Amino acid sequence: MRKIITASPSQTKNLAEKLAKQILLVKSDLASRERALIIGLFGDLGAGKTTFIQGFAKGLGIKQKIISPTFVIMKSYKLQSRVLGTSHKLIHIDAYRLENPKELIELNWNELINSPHNIILVEWANKIKKILPKNSAKISFKHCGKNKREIKITRI
Ligand code: ADP
Ligand code: MG
Repeated sequence: MRKIITASPSQTKNLAEKLAKQILLVKSDLASRERALIIGLFGDLGAGKTTFIQGFAKGLGIKQKIISPTFVIMKSYKLQSRVLGTSHKLIHIDAYRLENPKELIELNWNELINSPHNIILVEWANKIKKILPKNSAKISFKHCGKNKREIKITRI
């Protein structure tokens, strides 16, 4: 487990960008996975989950602007990666509005997690704990001052 304190949104984005690049290059089992890479993001409103995903997407080479898919629940972005090509996708899920994890099952969750080409990041992952695979990575965010956030990274 790694624990990092960031002191601004851009520090959080930079941390995420680096992590994404590491996942892409150094630890790239992405080309040979059997299932999706899933990262559950935990933490309250304003804790920095979306900010983190913005940096993460940049690290994956995604140029589009990332906003929380609060109302649509899920958005996906094609990777344009020199390493992986264009077969991989970042799937950004915001579980905030879900009343039941079943709603995500209806959005093809099982298919998504079984595709090795998906990198799935879930905001408000506590809402779908029941259906989150046990070996998912976990990142939790905590306020500790106006611009400070404690970010704990487990199992990446
Ligand atoms: P969440 O998705 O967890 O609800 P957001 O990323 O949407 O959170 O919002 C985080 C808010 O906190 C943004 O307004 C951002 O500018 C602000 N902020 C201040 N300091 C930080 C920091 N160190 N890391 C991330 N966001 C920060
Ligand atoms: Mg958010």
